Amino acid sequence: MALIVQKFGGTSVGSVDRIEQVAAKVKKFRDKGDDIVVVVSAMSGETNRLIDLAKQISEQPVARELDVMVSTGEQVTIALLAMALIKIGVPAVSYTGSQVRILTDSAHTKARILQIDSQQIHKELKAGRVVVVAGFQGVDEAGNITTLGRGGSDTTGVALAAALKADECQIYTDVDGVYTTDPRVVAKAQRLDKITFEEMLEMASLGSKVLQIRAVEFAGKYSVPLRVLHSFQEGPGTLITLDEEESMEQPIISGIAFNRDEAKLTIRGVPDTPGVAFKILGPISSANVEVDMIVQNVAHDNTTDFTFTVHRNDYHNALQVLEGIARDMGAREVIGDVDIAKVSIVGVGMRSHAGVASRMFEALAKENINIQMISTSEIKVSVVIEEKYLELAVRALHTAFELDAPAGKGE
Ligand code: ADP
Ligand code: ASP
Ligand code: MG
Repeated sequence: MALIVQKFGGTSVGSVDRIEQVAAKVKKFRDKGDDIVVVVSAMSGETNRLIDLAKQISEQPVARELDVMVSTGEQVTIALLAMALIKIGVPAVSYTGSQVRILTDSAHTKARILQIDSQQIHKELKAGRVVVVAGFQGVDEAGNITTLGRGGSDTTGVALAAALKADECQIYTDVDGVYTTDPRVVAKAQRLDKITFEEMLEMASLGSKVLQIRAVEFAGKYSVPLRVLHSFQEGPGTLITLDEEESMEQPIISGIAFNRDEAKLTIRGVPDTPGVAFKILGPISSANVEVDMIVQNVAHDNTTDFTFTVHRNDYHNALQVLEGIARDMGAREVIGDVDIAKVSIVGVGMRSHAGVASRMFEALAKENINIQMISTSEIKVSVVIEEKYLELAVRALHTAFELDAPAGKGE
């Protein structure tokens, strides 16, 4: 008998009808004799709806209260799913994050899980019940409700699987696995049978929202067997695995990720003296703005241009800080650009192949797409381009790295 944690995302519980379908699916597993813990998201659109409500009161709602409110989305779906299970004869019980005691730090809207008390869940399983747990939420030491960041139900699922020492964590969603790139953007994207934790971590952090990055971190750290599957279609899904297979067919690139959530800031004509980077990025960091890519160019007249990217939500804040810095340092000008996108190719195969970056640049050049910034690591190359070329770039790279599905196989 296995212990399985199954997480169902927003679209999979998006209506009463779907919740009943999920209940029927859970029943099938349970009838085989497995112990099941189910984690659910809020109904699709609900978290956005709640955030919009809060924004009608204040552009920057108090984070503690925002968490009290957005956590209600998941409280509705756990109860509905438990009811649906009971209706079809499956003993079930629902728990909020604080009732389980999913203990987190106090960083409202982006809290981290510190500890999970698994006692109560084990007790319920022993009594023969399916336990339905609210995703995305926890409670801090002082008893405040916290949430784990957008997409955080994935992390609840994986963290519960780790705490319960489950045999597998299954992430059920509206696609049938992890694809070479977002199948909604590239019709020829292909489902991957397997992807390594390391690659999945890069994909998630570079913009593939199919799994929340912290869920992948958790799964890697605690060796949780993790699989992404379609909620309502049969199929093997995608296994996130530790082993890097050395097969002849190992592609150089496993996937392409992209992200429209960044903005670019440039400060031009800064006197080029030691400590420039610190003088610019110190205040940015003090303003709690995280910087992603950085490029510095030195001009002939002993000045330097310094460009970096930040999350689009932080753009106005960063721009204000940078304008202050420019005045203090006597810089020529500050330029901001929100119409950018980041495209990244990811693959452990890059370690053993040279020329991957130039192949990427060639593919973009052929489409006349200008590269504004570049950053590389051992298993990824990222570029910043103009946002309007994003889809074209992703498709061109998908073809250039031979990831396209054979004719007729794509979605
Ligand atoms: P859920 O509500 O189930 O958590 P999400 O919307 O968070 O679902 O994640 C699933 C979506 O992730 C898919 O609908 C797909 O558009 C998107 N996605 C982005 N990149 C990928 C990828 N590489 N493989 C599969 N899906 C991807
Ligand atoms: N409901 C939350 C969100 O929309 C958490 C999740 O779905 O994973 O971000
Ligand atoms: Mg999600």
